[in-house]
Amino acid sequence: MFDLNNIIRPNIKALKPYSCARDEFKGEASVFLDANENPYNAPFNRYPDPLQWSVKERIAEIKGVAKESIFLGNGSDEPIDLMYRAFCEPRVDNVVAINPTYGMYEVCADINDVEYRKVELDENFQFSAEKLLAKADEHTKVMWLCSPNNPTGNLLQSTEIEKLLQAFNGIVVVDEAYIDFAETVSFSCKLNQHPNLIVLQTFSKAWGSAAIRLGMAFASKEIISVLNKIKYPYNVNILTQKQALELMSNADKVADWVKTLKGERCKLIDELQNLEIVKGIYPTDANFVLTKVKDANATYAHLVSKGVIVRNRNSVSLCGNCLRITVGTPEENEILLKELKTLK
Ligand SMILES: *Cc1c(COP(=O)(O)O)cnc(C)c1O
Repeated sequence: MFDLNNIIRPNIKALKPYSCARDEFKGEASVFLDANENPYNAPFNRYPDPLQWSVKERIAEIKGVAKESIFLGNGSDEPIDLMYRAFCEPRVDNVVAINPTYGMYEVCADINDVEYRKVELDENFQFSAEKLLAKADEHTKVMWLCSPNNPTGNLLQSTEIEKLLQAFNGIVVVDEAYIDFAETVSFSCKLNQHPNLIVLQTFSKAWGSAAIRLGMAFASKEIISVLNKIKYPYNVNILTQKQALELMSNADKVADWVKTLKGERCKLIDELQNLEIVKGIYPTDANFVLTKVKDANATYAHLVSKGVIVRNRNSVSLCGNCLRITVGTPEENEILLKELKTLK
């Protein structure tokens, strides 16, 4: 049985969190002399809402998740790091992750001095719950999944994710940074069935807002409380909160971007298939395409010399001679293809 109490580090369990002025007084008032703010330069003079309730209320409506089940951070990177700090005792505990996947899970493990155990995906870039469980021991606190996965682009099989959620007594993270580009529902609809599930989403991809740094974690209220307890008090600034609200008042625009990008993804795949240097294109549920070419290093170098930057994944396991190409505007994709056509 999963018991959050067995997962939280003892120092975090015992922690008395910093109490900020805005935590102590919640209500209507007209004179605020409690936080040593400057009364001039409104609205930037005031500390922002530490729990970002107005932003969470809108996200709750859009995503169908209770607002108490939402954590907001400085990009997804913040909740990723906080999970190590909340659940993993340095040099004692470990985590298990699929491989290859998003690089930040391992970087944050290294920063926090937590052992990072990798389990290779199969030739279809799918994982086996059994293999992940076999890699775990009594010190395994978190398992990292990413679906659609980066850099492979595919959705992971939901039956295997379910199996892992059922069988593993620690936290299972499903990073859904690219979910809006996939034809599937989010695992966030399963939060009530799985007290050990954390779903990550972000404003950086489909929502077109990588610059504002806003990441979301969806989980049980109990898990969200732990993350809130250890985050910096004002971790999401007022400019980011305002910009997110503005964007969410115009959700149709986001839906249009996604539709356009899915169309462009389809065209790009068609065109790539006809190129002499392209040896294969992997199925994608994201806004990028993993492509195997004759010589990834040479192709990458040529593109760079022409001012076109893609991601060379040649040295990543299972991705030999692969380039990860983000879907751009029709004009950008045209320029990429024009350059690739000159190569033999
Ligand atoms: C891009 C990406 C993110 C987004 O990270 P932010 O810090 O929110 O910008 C998260 N996870 C994966 C797998 C990604 O590829």
